[in-house]
Amino acid sequence: MKTSADTAARQVQYSGRTDSRDNAEIVLCPHCDLLQQLPALAPGEEAHCLRCHYQLDARQHNPVARPALYAASALLMLVLANLFPFVSMAIAGNRSEIHFFDTSAVLFTEYHQVLAILTWLFIQAVPAFCMMAVIYLKAGMRYNLPARIWVARVLYMLKPWSMVDIFLMGLLISFVKLVATAEISLGMSFWAFCLFCLLHLRTFQVLDRHALWASIAPNPQPLTKISAGCSGLEQQLKLCQCCTAVLPIQQRHCSRCHTKVTSRIPASLQKTLALLVTACVLYIPANILPIMRTVSFGEVTDSTIISGFILMWQDGEYPVAIVIFLASVVIPIVKIVVMFWLCYLAMRPRQLTGKYSGNIYRLVDWVGRWSMVDVLVVAFMAALVRFGLLASVYPGIAAVLFAAVVITTMLAAVSFDPRLLWDNQQPCKNTSCQYQTAKGVTT
Ligand SMILES: [Zn+2]
Ligand SMILES: [Zn+2]
Repeated sequence: MKTSADTAARQVQYSGRTDSRDNAEIVLCPHCDLLQQLPALAPGEEAHCLRCHYQLDARQHNPVARPALYAASALLMLVLANLFPFVSMAIAGNRSEIHFFDTSAVLFTEYHQVLAILTWLFIQAVPAFCMMAVIYLKAGMRYNLPARIWVARVLYMLKPWSMVDIFLMGLLISFVKLVATAEISLGMSFWAFCLFCLLHLRTFQVLDRHALWASIAPNPQPLTKISAGCSGLEQQLKLCQCCTAVLPIQQRHCSRCHTKVTSRIPASLQKTLALLVTACVLYIPANILPIMRTVSFGEVTDSTIISGFILMWQDGEYPVAIVIFLASVVIPIVKIVVMFWLCYLAMRPRQLTGKYSGNIYRLVDWVGRWSMVDVLVVAFMAALVRFGLLASVYPGIAAVLFAAVVITTMLAAVSFDPRLLWDNQQPCKNTSCQYQTAKGVTT
């Protein structure tokens, strides 16, 4: 049964007193910097920030065995996905069959190395590393293995760059595009890859971040008197974004994960704006230049992102056309505009911006990576459709440029510090908070 811990947290959050119950834990919300005290959560319970509703903690049943078993099963499926034929295609009596690793290998041998390396990283290397890291960390909880801190740090850093779910969506789009002109057969590896996707997603769902870091080292607790319901900055406290430890503002490195800790991301707005401008500049050639070159019965056609969408629409493939349009046109533009708007809000003083803009930030951050679907469609089709002058697909330069747009906007979202949206709120009204005047001190 899923139970929210909000009610229990609310009792102590705005009381202005330190909770006297056993096992109450001090947490700083990474999205709004509100200091809260959470009671000990039971397995299946989760706690959300009262101010911005960010999920602060979620406890899992059997936090060691379940993620390890899911990750091991996912790895097994990934091995199987590479062993057997993945997809085959027949057109006019000719047949082409690829393995899963051909998706990047074919591109690499044909001078599309950048696209090949990106595809390999997103659908093979990063997901495989993440699953191996989970197994290592869970085994480490039992056997005290070395270097777990570094493995955990890299795992959470790489997690957004694992794009197997997006690649699966790209496969379905490619099949809809190809099935009208060719016969598509799915090999055993395709089904193994589908299972890999499910197990990979499930592994991250049941991964208990809190239990993982707690097994590496106990959560350091600040020695100073704290007041729940005030911001960390007001109380000279800061959050380690890596392991969620709450640290004194003077401490430069986290005592648990050794990460360099700052109260706010340094030059967050400058970095975000610079990356957004870069994305805007890249977005223009990514839409003007061809993303894909198609050869059909000797006729060569270059298609851009927009012309590909129009072609799909004219062919009556409305659902796929809409998905392509949303992923390749709407999402990148909306994300760039929204991120500019969030930067503007963060710079304005005394704005009541926090809750809704925080939710919007989380939404664009989550949805932004799905723009990569068109790039992965091109990579897959270029590997599969290999019939010379009869029918062939080659990636265009815009595929790399568009991948760069998506990567740049993802980095912009990472560089943006959502706590800046809350820093301009009214000062803490908690009369027992002794640190109200400390606002503005950063380290
Ligand atoms: Zn919050
Ligand atoms: Zn830390």
